[in-house]
Amino acid sequence: MHKVRIEVDHNKCVGNGACVAADPAHFSLKDEKAVLPQQKKTGSVVSIEKELSDEQLKDAIDAAKVCPTNAIRVFDVKENVNLVATEVTSSGSKVIIAQYDDAEDFVLDPKGYFLIRILPETKEIEVGFCNMKNKVEVVVRGKKPIDIYHNIAKLELISRMEHASYLGRELQKAFIALQKGIKYVQDDELIL
Ligand code: SF4
Repeated sequence: MHKVRIEVDHNKCVGNGACVAADPAHFSLKDEKAVLPQQKKTGSVVSIEKELSDEQLKDAIDAAKVCPTNAIRVFDVKENVNLVATEVTSSGSKVIIAQYDDAEDFVLDPKGYFLIRILPETKEIEVGFCNMKNKVEVVVRGKKPIDIYHNIAKLELISRMEHASYLGRELQKAFIALQKGIKYVQDDELIL
């Protein structure tokens, strides 16, 4: 058994209920805030302290992890350590100096590639997906990057993470170019 304290900070809770879905034995919603059974309240924080089995602890940790606002803390009382903290900390983090060498690091996505352009008349971004035979198979048009990349993801036109990142970067550049009325050239930097 694990002696833990579960806390919910109501100043952070936005009441989306994700914790309730993950751990209904501990979390429920009241007045659009997550609450705990027999909770104590100190300021904006409600809490309970109890012994949990491995399975119960896993559910409580899952609930804390899915909270979109880091409103839930799970604290191991015996070990005096946060199992899930509400504050983001970078102490002890590994720091990597990012570098990219096109000649060495570029890997073509076996699914295909994208041709991107802007359509100033309609304020749209157009993405043509080409397969490896240089044939445009699908054209996706939209006004916002999020609309376009969600559709492209749903169509499963990308198989490499860096390709998805590249698409997001190019779409945002195209969007900025449309907003500012400047030229967009795929793979070139914007001239602002
Ligand atoms: S998941 Fe977080 S934000 Fe959502 S109801 Fe639970 S505590 Fe509140």
